[in-house]
Amino acid sequence: MKTKHLAAAAGGVSMAVAAVFALTPKEPATRAPVAASFQPPEYPELPQIDATPTMDVAASRLESWPDMKPPVVPALATVDDPLPAIDPPLKTWSREIESGETLDAVLAEAGLDAADRAEIALALGAEFDLRRLRPGHSIALTRTPDGRPLRITLAVDDGVRVEAVFGQSLATRVVTPEPDTVTIAGKTIIESSIAAALDDANLPARFAVDLAQMLSGTVDFRRELSGGETLRLLWREKRLDDQRIGQPDLAFAALEMGETLYEVVWPDDSSGRATIYVDGELLRVFAQPVEGARLSSVFGRRKHPIYGNVRMHTGVDFAAARGTPVHATAPGRISYVGWRGGYGRVVEITHGSDTVTRYTHLSSVTDDLSTGQRIKAGEVIGRVGSSGTATGPNMHYEVLVDGRPTDPLADDRLAEITGDKSADTAAQERLTVARAQLEEHLSERVTDRL
Ligand SMILES: [Zn+2]
Repeated sequence: MKTKHLAAAAGGVSMAVAAVFALTPKEPATRAPVAASFQPPEYPELPQIDATPTMDVAASRLESWPDMKPPVVPALATVDDPLPAIDPPLKTWSREIESGETLDAVLAEAGLDAADRAEIALALGAEFDLRRLRPGHSIALTRTPDGRPLRITLAVDDGVRVEAVFGQSLATRVVTPEPDTVTIAGKTIIESSIAAALDDANLPARFAVDLAQMLSGTVDFRRELSGGETLRLLWREKRLDDQRIGQPDLAFAALEMGETLYEVVWPDDSSGRATIYVDGELLRVFAQPVEGARLSSVFGRRKHPIYGNVRMHTGVDFAAARGTPVHATAPGRISYVGWRGGYGRVVEITHGSDTVTRYTHLSSVTDDLSTGQRIKAGEVIGRVGSSGTATGPNMHYEVLVDGRPTDPLADDRLAEITGDKSADTAAQERLTVARAQLEEHLSERVTDRL
């Protein structure tokens, strides 16, 4: 995998809307395909105010790629060879799969008989879980001039193709392209909201949620954004033929607000331990309960994307593949292990006298975990799942203070101050490296004030 370096400096943008930190997790710039009828919708869930989560929908696109067998070397057909030159030329029929359609229906439209369709479904299904078919995937059928089917290609996400070649039997293989990792920098001036500033500068919208996740406990965006703040970002994305594939990952953010410079360095090892700095000094290490997870829904009242009514979301959702370890966010004592209705399988940890953290929808709990047991920050307490009322794997995480849900991202009670000198030195080094990268890609200083 090679690494290219591109610099995309976006200019300052001006917006004349009232200052609101519009935390609308808009669809990522790389739009995930719309879910088909057999896929859970990609809307974050919004539990009732009674703290019973309903429809905890994880962003299913974040699940790990389905297990695929290594490419099968075709025994009878050599698919690597160019197709023989035939005159008149081969005929190719292709089209995208639409919402609610089955593979069989599309193949029937392509003119394949029931026996061929069944064989194709079996062959493709051996390489790709056909339940994961969704709108935007496409089918192409190549025929000989006399109409015999020659090759069928199923194009799924990120340039991956599953090919089946007709012969005495169907020979299938999976073609997985090798993407480039590209590092990109961008800059925008905030005039109304971070989300609007990202949008106007053509920067990925999902970064608004990433920034909120890291900084909402430190910065009150609603009060403190007054317009004219500078936001500089560095991120990595995977590209294939100049098309972005998957989601971009923030590496570094520098936000100048008035006299203060806030910086966040995200780890590139998916450890989930981002570091936050104020004016170049380490403020805290953000301990995430699920490593490498995406925040798929934040805390608070919000308009439900499907029903349109306003409901309270009593925690934050971390979308991750089933089985991903769940870590205690702070030291404490296990106060509950078991089931709680819509929350499914739950672990609760008491911290001090008034604070409880709740980890829900778990697929499993760590062996021998029992009430009263002491637990360290970062200890694995269970695994991500979808128990309770969740239609996809995600970890709905709550922080309760005196029994009331509070915003986990804004609650400093659990913020971890390292106090460890070597860790602090490593954190300072990471900041120095991140700044140097941003300055290289943006061809300007992170700030002129320091
Ligand atoms: Zn939730």
